[in-house]
Amino acid sequence: MFTKQEQRSWLKIQCALGRTARQYHEDLVETCGETVLPYRTVARCIRAFNEGRESKADVAQPQVALVSVTMSAVCSSWWETFSMSTAIGHIRQLMCLTWSQATKRNIEGGGFGPVLWIEFGVAQWSERLVRRTKDPDLTVQLASPEQLQPKPEVTDLQFGKNFTDHMLKILYHESLGGWQRPEIVPFENIVLHPAAKVLHYATELFEGMKAYRGVDGKIRIFRPDMNMERMNRSALRAGLPTFDGEQLIKCLCRLISIDQEWVPHSESSSLYIRPTLIGIDPSLGVAACGSAMLYTILCPVGSYFSGTGENPVSLLADPRFIRAWPGGCGDKKMGSNYAPTIQVQQEAQGRGLQQVLWLYGEENLITEVGTMNIFMVFINDRGEKELVTPPLDGLILPGITRASILHLSREWNEFPVSERRISMAEVINLLGQNRLLELFGAGTACVVSPVASIMYNGENLQIPTVKQEYPLYARLRKTLTDIQYGYVPHPWAVPIDP
Ligand SMILES: *Cc1c(COP(=O)(O)O)cnc(C)c1O
Repeated sequence: MFTKQEQRSWLKIQCALGRTARQYHEDLVETCGETVLPYRTVARCIRAFNEGRESKADVAQPQVALVSVTMSAVCSSWWETFSMSTAIGHIRQLMCLTWSQATKRNIEGGGFGPVLWIEFGVAQWSERLVRRTKDPDLTVQLASPEQLQPKPEVTDLQFGKNFTDHMLKILYHESLGGWQRPEIVPFENIVLHPAAKVLHYATELFEGMKAYRGVDGKIRIFRPDMNMERMNRSALRAGLPTFDGEQLIKCLCRLISIDQEWVPHSESSSLYIRPTLIGIDPSLGVAACGSAMLYTILCPVGSYFSGTGENPVSLLADPRFIRAWPGGCGDKKMGSNYAPTIQVQQEAQGRGLQQVLWLYGEENLITEVGTMNIFMVFINDRGEKELVTPPLDGLILPGITRASILHLSREWNEFPVSERRISMAEVINLLGQNRLLELFGAGTACVVSPVASIMYNGENLQIPTVKQEYPLYARLRKTLTDIQYGYVPHPWAVPIDP
């Protein structure tokens, strides 16, 4: 069995071939426990390896080292080439078998799979690390075993704190003809000129997406084309270069595939994907960028809010603070929109509340909650249940979860669905008449998050969202997560390995 300790420090067994196969096997058993295949199978693999080696006279005294590596590396084309060239296909099979046996045990608790790796001939390692993949437009440099990060317990995951082993990097230089070849590299710091535009004028934008491990083991991403379109709209507004969204999706899928062991085997968790575009020209002029970097980092995440997703949130609605305004950039996912919200969020927390309900204008229109779009379910003048959300009038970030909720509920065709402005006066009025049923936020991070209360003008309004017998928010969340986790086949859920 793999204990947590072993997973953290990674397995490392050095074993010269001079030792007997039985000794080698004993080492394996000692470290890996019962998950190791029977000695007979291992012996056959080692024999196969030896035969391969003997035919290559120039490989002097190769060492077999069993160190850590992810399953994804075993599946990578680098591994394929490597294993073919050293005639160790059998060993690869062995590792896959060992891996899947061990994984079965480990993922019962909803964690990550354990990792194993066989490395042959240390001297050959480095030159084989960098190689072109089948896709000529992408280079991949895999992390060496020493660079691999330990995986945290899924229950310890905090949003955006743990990152995977690799990242995607694409440079843009107008002077070199535009976008350069995308690279997947070991996770690393980036180096910027101190005058880089992003550091002075916040020429930055980002996206937030997720990869989900489905019930069938397949990894899927959700409506990535919509993220690409939105990212390009943000880029245009920021004077940053636009790009081919389909190509970026391909690169993202490859990156996720390489780091696939970082996609948690758990349904309350997923792999958060953060594509980021920054202006890197080394000049202080306030001008469009001639140089940019598009990079993507990945982090395994649990539930966005502490506790389970069922904890309804309490909100602060303070008309003194405004998130977005007509003609501004509140409808773009630009970094510059978020720094000014931090102090307000702190103010909410200081008052024992969790999130900010963003208001706008004389009428105190409700626009968004935290970094989520907002929805209201109420009884309309005709006595029907109705779903409503503010319209995309420039004040609202065009959420993909928002669009999906609107699409699904219009498809159901069971109740009216509208996009129109909602004022605080209307909220209070509906509450007073017991006609306000639900208020909830919607976004990739949390899917759907019910609201329990709003602190407004010194009054704490109680919202009965989680008191409904069959709340719409719960039905929407189930429908969306069923699609994301592969329970229901749907064109919105795109497998990373088609
Ligand atoms: C990202 C974001 C959303 C939600 O968009 P999704 O595409 O559904 O994740 C909503 N509001 C703001 C302000 C956001 O930044």
